[in-house]
Amino acid sequence: VSVIYTPLYDEANRLVNIIVNVHDITRFREEEEMKSTFTSIISHELKTPVALIKGYAQTLARPDVEWDQETARQGLQIIEEEADRLEMLINNLLDVSRIQASGLRLDYADVNLQALAQKVAEAYRTQTNTHQIELDFPHELPLVWGDEERLRQVLTNLVSNAIKYSPDGGIIRIGGWTDQGDGTQPDQTRVVLYVADQGIGIPPEEIPHIFDRFYRVDSSLRRSTAGTGLGLFLAKAIVEAHGGQIWVRSEPGKGTTFFFSLPVSQGQDATTQTINHP
Ligand code: ADP
Repeated sequence: VSVIYTPLYDEANRLVNIIVNVHDITRFREEEEMKSTFTSIISHELKTPVALIKGYAQTLARPDVEWDQETARQGLQIIEEEADRLEMLINNLLDVSRIQASGLRLDYADVNLQALAQKVAEAYRTQTNTHQIELDFPHELPLVWGDEERLRQVLTNLVSNAIKYSPDGGIIRIGGWTDQGDGTQPDQTRVVLYVADQGIGIPPEEIPHIFDRFYRVDSSLRRSTAGTGLGLFLAKAIVEAHGGQIWVRSEPGKGTTFFFSLPVSQGQDATTQTINHP
């Protein structure tokens, strides 16, 4: 808190009263901290890809060198990957500001989560050969009621974290099951999806914070990985907007599993809804 004392004097200059103003500046300080975290993350996360894109473009454009095709192709590939990284960062930032301002639009329809998990796994398999991605769906899942693109974003964020925070050669498993609740009401039925890795894990004291905006676990191992601390914040906002929940189980040094649950479709008509956060 900030406390301001204002003394009041009468005509004879005698102290007659003191006004005490107490301001709760926690919010102000939090905002200030947020701004400085934001600035340092953004400057780092923007500068790296921009420097790479510029460097490769300048090198490939040198008039005095004839690059062989393979070198040129590799350079262009890096330019494309770094541009993708910038695009994702910009999209994440826009989503966060939309959630806080006008809201994030959700286009609801029936979604087959198992098919979605397959698509996400396939996309990663063509992109990365450092990790093995396995699917584990022993039973067919009911359709859920959601925005397919947003749910793909949740899965993509969880899988990209699983890859980022586990060593090469690790197995990443995407799976799911149906949870009937206590079975008394049909609308209690949920589909639970999980993404499990064999990575570095998350210390128990960090778990309450990892879904916060811009939060990154502070350790030298993690600091070397790129990130903004927005992935899990967005995943949670999206899952909760669907009436679902997201949670995690983790053991440092062994691995992490993120779970999220979603209500099953009741055969509604497609609708659009907007989510806002305070
Ligand atoms: P980031 O851009 O830093 O990856 P996220 O919001 O996606 O941001 O995650 C927040 C933090 O949670 C990460 O910085 C990381 O420390 C931790 N974390 C997330 N997923 C995992 C995982 N699968 N294994 C270990 N740590 C994780």
